Amino acid sequence: MPELIPMLSKEEIDKMVSTLALQISLDYDGRTPVILGVLKGAFIFLADLLRYLTIPVEVDFLRVSSYGAGTSSSGNIRLTKEIETNIAGRDILVVEDIIDTGLTLNFLLNYLKNFDPLSVRVCSLINKIEVRKKKIKIDYIGHVVQQGFLVGYGLDYNESYRNLPEIYHLKL
Ligand code: 5GP
Ligand code: MG
Repeated sequence: MPELIPMLSKEEIDKMVSTLALQISLDYDGRTPVILGVLKGAFIFLADLLRYLTIPVEVDFLRVSSYGAGTSSSGNIRLTKEIETNIAGRDILVVEDIIDTGLTLNFLLNYLKNFDPLSVRVCSLINKIEVRKKKIKIDYIGHVVQQGFLVGYGLDYNESYRNLPEIYHLKL
């Protein structure tokens, strides 16, 4: 049986998310950014983050697939859902669950450039720093981890565990 080792409690996550939302609300004061959630992993984080934001926002989603079934990024990234909002001239905040190698985000940032947004920033719940392959600026980071495979709070392992309210380190 895989073992789940507790990493972040509900309370810790809530504090992290409200702190990020406060900073984002201050930075985007007077503007209406388009928040782009990266499916599926970021959906719970995005939902919680939005409810703490005090600025007006629009929301859209895109979806990329890179892992297949497993715990390491294949680097073979496909866009499986396009954005539906016209983001030309708009301030964009990409909301991700985890940045690991950085390949997914690098791919997304290149994709978004094609639509001529005014600005693009990145907010990630988790920054995993051990195996970064692409240098990427992450503007808002909830929590930093060295390594390991995390599940819960939207994060899955073969589509399981997304519903856990806490974040766990999965030991296979
Ligand atoms: P990257 O392209 O930066 O290597 O990987 C980014 C994507 O891989 C993340 O958006 C996330 O969906 C997935 N990912 C990376 N690390 C983990 C992890 O520890 N747990 C889970 N569930 N997904 C991860
Ligand atoms: Mg993801």
